[in-house]
Amino acid sequence: MTNRDSKTKSNTVGTQSYDAVLIGAGFAGMYALLRLREMGISVRLYEGASGVGGTWWWNRYPGARVDFPSAPYYSYSFSQELLDEFDWKERQPSQAEVLTYLDFVADRLELRPDIQLETWIESATFDEKSSRWHIETSRGESISAQFLISAMGTLSEANKPAIPGIDDFTGELLHTGRWPAEEVKFAGKRVGVIGTGSSGIQSIPMIAREAGHLSVFQRTPQYSIPAGNRPVKPEELAEARESFAQRKEFMAVSPLGMPYPMSEKSALDDPPEVRNALYEELWQDGGLHMLFNSYNDLLVNKEANDTLCEFIRGKIRSTVKDPATVEKLLPDYILATKRQAIDDGYFETYNRDNVTLVDLRDDPIERITADGIITKSGEHKLDMLVLATGYDAITGKLLRLNPTGRDGVDLASAWKERFYTYLGVTIPGFPNLFMVHGPQSPSVLYNMPYGGEMESDWIRDCIAHVRDNNLASIEAAPGVEDEWAEHVEEAAKQTLFHGTDSWYSGANIEGKHRQFIVHLGGPEYFKHLREIAENDYQGFVVEEANEAPNSELSSAG
Ligand code: NAP
Repeated sequence: MTNRDSKTKSNTVGTQSYDAVLIGAGFAGMYALLRLREMGISVRLYEGASGVGGTWWWNRYPGARVDFPSAPYYSYSFSQELLDEFDWKERQPSQAEVLTYLDFVADRLELRPDIQLETWIESATFDEKSSRWHIETSRGESISAQFLISAMGTLSEANKPAIPGIDDFTGELLHTGRWPAEEVKFAGKRVGVIGTGSSGIQSIPMIAREAGHLSVFQRTPQYSIPAGNRPVKPEELAEARESFAQRKEFMAVSPLGMPYPMSEKSALDDPPEVRNALYEELWQDGGLHMLFNSYNDLLVNKEANDTLCEFIRGKIRSTVKDPATVEKLLPDYILATKRQAIDDGYFETYNRDNVTLVDLRDDPIERITADGIITKSGEHKLDMLVLATGYDAITGKLLRLNPTGRDGVDLASAWKERFYTYLGVTIPGFPNLFMVHGPQSPSVLYNMPYGGEMESDWIRDCIAHVRDNNLASIEAAPGVEDEWAEHVEEAAKQTLFHGTDSWYSGANIEGKHRQFIVHLGGPEYFKHLREIAENDYQGFVVEEANEAPNSELSSAG
C-alpha cells in the first residue's frame, strides 16, 4: 500500500493516516514539510512546543543569539523571496529575531495548517506487515504513516546533570535549553550558573548585570571570542540580496557551508608579529569566522592551534583584573575542539564585584541542597540555579523516542554497543525512517539551515523513488553501517577533534558511547549523498509494495 492518492488524512477506526509524519518544527522540519507537501503527498508535522522554532523556541535564555556573523546567512537559502522580504536587524541575530523570522516563514509559506503544536510523539513502531509506522502522540492520537522523518534537533535533549541533591533545590531551577517564555527576574537574587559552554558564556554577562550576586560554577574554562555583534546596515542587506546566487555557489563548495572565504595560509607561515596582528584585527571585528579567515590549519595542526590559544590566553590575562581569577579562566584544551564560544563581555564580567568564579576542578561540588550548592570549600547560598549544562547531543532525542524497527528491535538495543547509521540519514533495520541532522551527518559542524535543506531534499527524492517505483519500503542494507562508520572516523582522524572530551564525542554524558558522531566532510558529504541517489540508491534494499511480509529483501542498487 502506497497511499499514492491520499492527499488528506483519513480516519480508520480512530487511526489517522498520512503518507509522511515529520517530528520537529525547527529550521529543518519546516523546510522538509514544504518539500514533502510539494510532492502532493499527505504529511503532518508534530511539534511538542506551543510555537514553531525548535531550538530557537526553547533557548530563550538571556543573551542567546546566533554564533557567527550570519544575517542574512543563518536563514533559508532556497528562496530569494524570503531573503527579500525579511529585514534582518543584527549581524548575529538574537534568539527573538530568529524566532520572528521562523514565524514569518511559517506564515509566508502557509505551513501552519500542516503543523500540530503541543504534541509530543511518544512512540513509533514499524509494522512489517503493512510497511508503515504506527505512531502514538501525547494527545492520545494513533497515527499510521508510510514514512517517519525526525527533525528533532541535535541540541534538544537537555542534560540535567546527576549532581547529588539536585532535586532537593527549592529555589528556581532553570535549564538554558528549556527557558520559560515568561520573563525571568534576577534582580536582587543570589543566582548560580553551572556550566561555561556557549550557553553559559552568553547568559553569564546578562545575568550578572541584574543579579544581586552571581556565582559561576566552572568545570572547564573556555576560549571565547568577542561576538562583534552590530546592526546590519541597509547596504549590507541590499548587497546580500543582490548576490544571493553567487553566495549560494560559494556556500556549496565551502567546507562548512559558510559564505565567506577560507584562508589558504598556515598559521606557521607568518612570523609571530604578523600572525598576532591578524588575530588582533579579527578579534576586534569579532565572530567565529576568526577561526577560518585567519589560517587554514587551526583545526588540523596542534602547533598552529597553539598560536591562537596563546593569543586568547593573553586576552584573558589582559582583561581580567584579579590574578587568581585569571588562573581559573585560562583554558588548556585544543582550541575549537569543544564547540567554540563567542561572547559579549564574558571575561569582563569577572571584574564585577557581584560575580564569583568557582573552579570546580579545585573545588568540586559535593551536593546541592534546598538553598544552595556545597562545594569542597564551603556553601554557596542561592535563590536561583541556572543549568547551562548542555545536551545529550545528536542522539539524545532519538533515543528518548526509541523507535522500534524491524524484528521488534528498538533503537536503544540497536545502538547498545555503538551509534551507527547509513549516511547519517537512515539506520539499518529501521525501514522508511529518515533523520535530518542525524548522527554521522555534518549537522552541527556545518551551516545547519543550509545542510538541513540539502538533507531534506535528499529524503524527499528518496521518498519519491519509493513511491514512483511502487515500493513499500526502503532501508539501508545490513552491513553498510560499518563502512560508513569508518568513513566518518577517518575524516575526524585528520583533525584535532580526537584530542578533547566534548559533546561531539559523547564525553559530556555519563555512560554515553565515546564516539565522534559528526561527519566532517562538508561538501564531499553532500556530493556523496547525491551520488548514492544517482546510483539507484546504492547500499539500500527495498521491499515491493505487494510482497509477502518477511520475503527476502531485494537490492535497491
Ligand atoms: P555545552 O557546550 O555542553 O556546555 C555545558 C557546560 O556545562 C560545560 O561547561 C560543562 O563542563 C558544564 N557541565 C556539564 N555537566 C556538568 C556537571 N555535572 N558539573 C559541572 N559542570 C558541568 O552546552 P551549551 O553551552 O548549552 O552549548 C551546547 C551547544 O549548543 C554549543 O556547543 C553550541 O553548539 C550550541 N549553542 C549555540 C549557541 C549559539 O550561539 N548559536 C549558543 C548556545 C549553544 P565541561 O566542559 O567540563 O563538560
